[in-house]
Amino acid sequence: MGDIIKIGDVTAAPGEIRYGHWHALAHPTGHVEFFPVIVAQGRREGPCFWLTAGVHGSEQAGPLVLYELLTRELVARLKGTVVAIPALNPAGLRTGSREPYHAQADPNRLWPEAKTDRTDHPDFDPPTSLEQAYQRLYLEMTATADYLIDYHNAWIGSLSFALRDRILFRGDDPQDQARAQALSDQLDNMLKAYGHTVVTEYPAETYIKENLHRTTSGAVLQRGRILAFTAELGTGLAPDPTIIKAACAGTRNVLRWAGMLEDSAEAIEDIRVIRTGYPVRRMRTPRVPEACVVRHLVQAGDRVGKGDVVAELKDVWGRPTGNGVIRSGHEGIVLGRSHGVFFYPGQAILVMAVRDDEASIAPYPKHYRERMDSA
Ligand SMILES: [Zn+2]
Repeated sequence: MGDIIKIGDVTAAPGEIRYGHWHALAHPTGHVEFFPVIVAQGRREGPCFWLTAGVHGSEQAGPLVLYELLTRELVARLKGTVVAIPALNPAGLRTGSREPYHAQADPNRLWPEAKTDRTDHPDFDPPTSLEQAYQRLYLEMTATADYLIDYHNAWIGSLSFALRDRILFRGDDPQDQARAQALSDQLDNMLKAYGHTVVTEYPAETYIKENLHRTTSGAVLQRGRILAFTAELGTGLAPDPTIIKAACAGTRNVLRWAGMLEDSAEAIEDIRVIRTGYPVRRMRTPRVPEACVVRHLVQAGDRVGKGDVVAELKDVWGRPTGNGVIRSGHEGIVLGRSHGVFFYPGQAILVMAVRDDEASIAPYPKHYRERMDSA
């Protein structure tokens, strides 16, 4: 980008890794919450790549990926700059919980979105300190970043996979649609370079409803129109060293794709990478019809056909209940098992990647568009 990159109290310097703080918020106890910043700048010009982690405090593999990745050896051959933040939610990381104790909302749903209809209505709470911090950080990210990866963990024993957001566009704006398509094609190439299993997010309606356009990578991609994805790195509170190694290799491959490293791509080894041959999207499925105890018969990475038995259903005495089994309603792969074995009716026992029938870009849902217009 040419300009000298300065994030918080860290100023990038050619050939150096620099460490410092980004002031996030003040606690009422006088303590200051900062986000740790690492800026690694190569000696040669190149893009600016942001790597973020630790927005969910119970997902602790991402910081380890950053520490393993950002070495003197990497910087010696890097073109451009890597800006890394290993702790986007320090409070959650302290307590090992998804949400910070001082702002009880999913922190990965607080990033800026394409509509700006927030009001100053006295009956509604204003944005929390954390949301305001993310709003400020978002401006610094989008002013400097050419690319972003945000690292997370999915479930115990889950596959390592990349979550690819469907790029949203204004349905009545052909130019916006063309831009979204071009960005989408680039995003596919970026994900291909990462080399892990790729799973598309929910269709647009569900995506907006679940505020997934307000995740770190979602905001940067949808509002910022900057290439970004979320990397899900398996188990969160006991990170898998094999997945961390493969995430480092995948990230270096993306840096190569972005022209920031010149050597040849690394093989992604020792983790399961599933290439279905057709696009897949995530879905919580199948859902149990009644309260029961579940004995899963499939594991992360297994391929499942429509109608295949995926679990036995028992009562608490261990006797078969209902049909005794549950079948998959979809063709796809198992990304992970829902935690636990005791389920209430309607709860999903797996998260699967199922065949995706929708396009990789989608118009903003009508109700959201209306709010964009009124902004
Ligand atoms: Zn997460």
